[in-house]
Amino acid sequence: MAQTHSTGSWPQWRGEGVVLVLSGPSGCGKSTLIQAFLARQSGFAASVSTTTRPPRTGEVEGRDYHFCDDETFQRRIDEGALLEHAVVFGRHRYGTLRAPVLERSAAGLGVIMDVDVQGAAQIRERLPAAVQVFILPPSAAELERRLRGRGTDEAEVVARRLAEATAEIGCWSAYDFVIINDDLDVAVARLEAIAEAASWRSSAFS
Ligand code: ADP
Ligand code: 5GP
Repeated sequence: MAQTHSTGSWPQWRGEGVVLVLSGPSGCGKSTLIQAFLARQSGFAASVSTTTRPPRTGEVEGRDYHFCDDETFQRRIDEGALLEHAVVFGRHRYGTLRAPVLERSAAGLGVIMDVDVQGAAQIRERLPAAVQVFILPPSAAELERRLRGRGTDEAEVVARRLAEATAEIGCWSAYDFVIINDDLDVAVARLEAIAEAASWRSSAFS
């Protein structure tokens, strides 16, 4: 007689949305890459960070950041509302609200975020299912060209960010993947491939 197997323990895909964490030195193209990725991946949304930095011209509350004062930021930490937080470039505080990330992922939708290397290290401990991608500029010279070409920062800020880049790039090996952002279309395609593969990891099944 043919044997039939019980399907009681058949692996089930949980269908959770992938959480993509991107880091890389300022000017390497994280924002550009995220916007291009989101234009093609309607199932993903960018996590909106909270920060004590004042808004820049054109930035919109709730779209670019949740802007707040130091007191409010500290309250969020005390409440345990932040998945991670850090002082970036020695000046302002930035953090990721935990609830929107977890709720979106549980609903089967993807989340993509740009956090510095300190924040990514915290997420590695607290949300190991998140996929960490380091964005590497093709060269130091190209990084400098992009930072100056962006035209959003004063010369002194550019110099400080270039100095910080060396330390940030030194963290690349802690990440799951590295994408060299040379040709933007190639970089976006690689990020899409990583997101697709990540959703089929064995850990996505129970
Ligand atoms: P980050 O968010 O990492 O600080 P941006 O996305 O603001 O970096 O990019 C910095 C500058 O580099 C911008 O002027 C952007 O248009 C440019 N840039 C981004 N990606 C590329 C690329 N693949 N090739 C050429 N220029 C790029
Ligand atoms: P900007 O002030 O130029 O918007 O952001 C500066 C840097 O802060 C970004 O490149 C990014 O690496 C970092 N950053 C933005 N949001 C967060 C966040 O929520 N957490 C952490 N740790 N870093 C962030």
